[in-house]
Amino acid sequence: MASKPVVAYFHDEDVANFHYGQRHPMKPHRLALTHSLVLNYGLHEKMQVYRPYRATADDIGMFHSKDYVRYLQRPTLKDGSKFLIGTGHDCPLFEGLFDFCSMYTGASLEGARKLNHKQCDIAINWSGGLHHAKKFEASGFCYVNDIVIAILELLKYHPRVLYIDIDIHHGDGVEEAFFTTDRVMTVSFHKFGDQFFPGTGNIFEIGEGRGKYYSVNVPLKNGIDGDTYLRIFKPTMTKVIERYQPSAIVLQCGADSLGLDRLGCFNMTIESHGACVDFIKSFNLPTLILGGGGYTIRNVARCWTYETGLLVGAELSNEIPFGEYFPFFGPDFSLHPDMSTSFENENTKEYVDRLLAQIDLHLKQIEAVPSVMMQEIPSDGLLHDLIHARKEEEKDKNADERFPQSERDKHIKPDNEFE
Ligand SMILES: [Zn+2]
Repeated sequence: MASKPVVAYFHDEDVANFHYGQRHPMKPHRLALTHSLVLNYGLHEKMQVYRPYRATADDIGMFHSKDYVRYLQRPTLKDGSKFLIGTGHDCPLFEGLFDFCSMYTGASLEGARKLNHKQCDIAINWSGGLHHAKKFEASGFCYVNDIVIAILELLKYHPRVLYIDIDIHHGDGVEEAFFTTDRVMTVSFHKFGDQFFPGTGNIFEIGEGRGKYYSVNVPLKNGIDGDTYLRIFKPTMTKVIERYQPSAIVLQCGADSLGLDRLGCFNMTIESHGACVDFIKSFNLPTLILGGGGYTIRNVARCWTYETGLLVGAELSNEIPFGEYFPFFGPDFSLHPDMSTSFENENTKEYVDRLLAQIDLHLKQIEAVPSVMMQEIPSDGLLHDLIHARKEEEKDKNADERFPQSERDKHIKPDNEFE
């Protein structure tokens, strides 16, 4: 990668106009706020800006079951509960649902394609990163898993793809999709415990079969601040990248890990959240940058704009430039407002040290030169094998049987060391 990376940025202005519902915390409008701030800071002059491709039902079917894709194309209230959509679920049925999915998924897919064809070094899609969606159903405000679909596209050209997730929630949908393969390594940093959604992602959830040790989970407690987070993030990611040697990276930048998030309980600043992005950028690998959660929307826009600035190498003034949504950023009108909360940092030094030691033990199990590294860059044929294997699995099993509780229980140490 050249010293100044070529950055491709995808934004469909229509994607911000969908509504999950008045009282629903997910507000696609945050994407309009973000884009407006990106423009007002002049960042569009430092990158290629695209109105992205829209994903088709076939694209979505690369990962999701036929039944589910068919439903998304013609959703009804009556059939919704089968896919956990509609009244009583956290994924409402709203006007234009399929179009919404095809917009955010198309942007991630096109980002992956541009990376594959070396048309850019970094691709950004703030509308993507919907990491909870499952093959057969919606989950946690996510309908289509654009991340899995983008990774499948990257696997056409890349032998090993690294997925990193800094959303406050466990990246369960992506982990589950690649739980049994060593061609994708997933690393998720998230709040764990107190029945926090989605409830998965304990430190002993490490993958299965060929994928054993290729899922890394970093369970965190309330109130983690930026310094503590980076003390875990940097050494972990350095070791993962040294060991795994990915040829491409997908980074999900959920902004609900910031302090003052409407649903979160962490104490990260925008600067420290951005430091994670900057750190991953420093490895100079083809990288797809995605959004994710984030429910205090003025801070989501600040965070993703700041990170766009880091990715294009621009320094941004702390003073929010005047623009369409200026009043949203009051009363301070600064890019880095005080975001400290009353959540105490429960991640003690002892806890963090034990966490790092346990992760280190797992990472040592990864062969420095895993078998997959001996292979030539796989052809599309291998991708088809992967998809075929998944289709076979679909015939055999019900989605819920994938992680039977008895299996999960085996991974929980009796002394509950990490709870
Ligand atoms: Zn989240």
